[in-house]
Amino acid sequence: MSAVIKGNNEIEEIISYDPATGEDVGRVPQMSAEDVNETIGRARSAFLKWKQTSFAERRRYVMKAREVILAELDDIAHLISAESGKPFSEAISMEIAPVLDLMQHFARNTEKMLRPAKIGIGLYGMLGRTSKIVYHPLGIVGIIPAWNYPFSIPLGETVMALMAGNTVVIKPSELTPLVGLKIGEIFEKAGFPEDTVQIVTGDGRTGAALVMATPDKIMFTGSVATGKKIAESAAKNLTSVVLELGGKDPMIVFEDANLELAASAAVWGAFCNSGQSCSSVERLYVHESVVDKLTKLIVEKTRGLKQGPGYNEDVSIGAMSSEKQLKIVEDHVEDFRSAGANILTGGKRHADLQGLFYEPTVISGATNEMRAMQEETFGPTLPIAVFRTEADAVKLANDSEFGLTASVWTKDLSKGKRVAEKIEAGSVCVNEVLYTHGIAQTPWGGFKNSGRGRTHGREGLMELVQPQHIHVNRLAFLPNAWWMPYSSTAVETFRSLAKHFASGSMRKTSRLIPQLLKRIRELRK
Ligand code: NAD
Repeated sequence: MSAVIKGNNEIEEIISYDPATGEDVGRVPQMSAEDVNETIGRARSAFLKWKQTSFAERRRYVMKAREVILAELDDIAHLISAESGKPFSEAISMEIAPVLDLMQHFARNTEKMLRPAKIGIGLYGMLGRTSKIVYHPLGIVGIIPAWNYPFSIPLGETVMALMAGNTVVIKPSELTPLVGLKIGEIFEKAGFPEDTVQIVTGDGRTGAALVMATPDKIMFTGSVATGKKIAESAAKNLTSVVLELGGKDPMIVFEDANLELAASAAVWGAFCNSGQSCSSVERLYVHESVVDKLTKLIVEKTRGLKQGPGYNEDVSIGAMSSEKQLKIVEDHVEDFRSAGANILTGGKRHADLQGLFYEPTVISGATNEMRAMQEETFGPTLPIAVFRTEADAVKLANDSEFGLTASVWTKDLSKGKRVAEKIEAGSVCVNEVLYTHGIAQTPWGGFKNSGRGRTHGREGLMELVQPQHIHVNRLAFLPNAWWMPYSSTAVETFRSLAKHFASGSMRKTSRLIPQLLKRIRELRK
């Protein structure tokens, strides 16, 4: 939770509150466009030095930052939990552990992934040409994350940007600014050169100022509505953007699935982080023959979960991060109720807890016609719908503006993979759920309104560099047949180029040699 106030010296401040207790966790300044522009200026100067560092130096710095995190692991997890409301345990398992893995992966492998590489250029090679690709850093990467994974998402993107030779400015969410500042502190303690990583605090106004301050890339994570605004203002300066937006994850459970496992997966996938993950299971489609059995298992498992303030180690479901988000959940549950679905457990704020706690809620009898099956809920709800055939399941899953993640549950792996490929989503799991953002090696991003571009994996790294093609002519004593002046011999040669050379066939192209020599002799006269 957060609020913007005027501080004693009339400068606006953001107060960050613990959503589980309402306690004041700390205050940060609401930074202005001028502050942001100055920050970008410093980042630009720092870039000139940072881009000269070797991969080995960058790796040493990043590995040192890992050590700083490991030394402060519990304190960092408590801070994440206090600002976001998520359980302390999840702050470790879903944020700190995966980002430590990402850090070691990109520290060790970026050099290999960005090594200059020779490119095969087919028959142009016969003409004595060679091509290679080299990768340059972009400059300054501006990172604007959401509040739901306030540590792992911006930190992971920062490490990838730094390893590629860029400097970074992060504008953390106004709900979790202290976690943002902590990220800056980690890089400082690891000894990174000054201004290599800087944090600007503030709400959407500061984010908008960062976009307009002409960084070389914006990595944005958040809602579709804000993503559209950012794309629009970034276009004014042709700043390229990666947009990681919302989701409405469908989980398809076939009749032959391991139902016990699928039920546990659905509970974790829908309720971890109080359902506030872009890849949270928000729609469960189960074959009609096993719907009763699966639903019973899910309800039993849900009722067994302890909810409460995240600092208690045995708490599985923490608080939601903001009143605004909780109200969306209330609205969606009301929509399910009034449209005729059944609330089997939960369906209300927790009566005995003071903070922003909404009970994990299982809903049966949902259909795609209900509004809450179309809009992103981003809360602890698990609506269950039925399907009859495989084609039905695919159609229902794809009936959404979103396409971030999905899962298919079946013992028949070839069926699982076949169905997975028919689903319009950036990541589709077979007998797995939600966690693939935690795999640093694989690309992450959405189809449809779930986003543009990718983070993580080779594809994500490529978003943070400029590829440059270096082309060399080793026969630099001969003119090219396609140069001027043109003549009837030239036209005849070009016809042969079109017919033979452009076929890609060495055999056909060899027929072109006499014509080519004739043309070159003509040009050398
Ligand atoms: P949001 O769009 O409200 O805010 C995201 C960030 O944008 C915040 O830092 C905010 O201050 C900033 N911002 C707001 N207005 C801005 C503007 N005009 N210009 C620049 N910056 C601006 O989103 P949120 O509520 O923080 O996050 C929830 C959303 O994030 C959900 O839709 C969720 O699915 C999505 N999300 C997606 C991914 C993914 O990888 N696809 C991951 C996590 C969250």
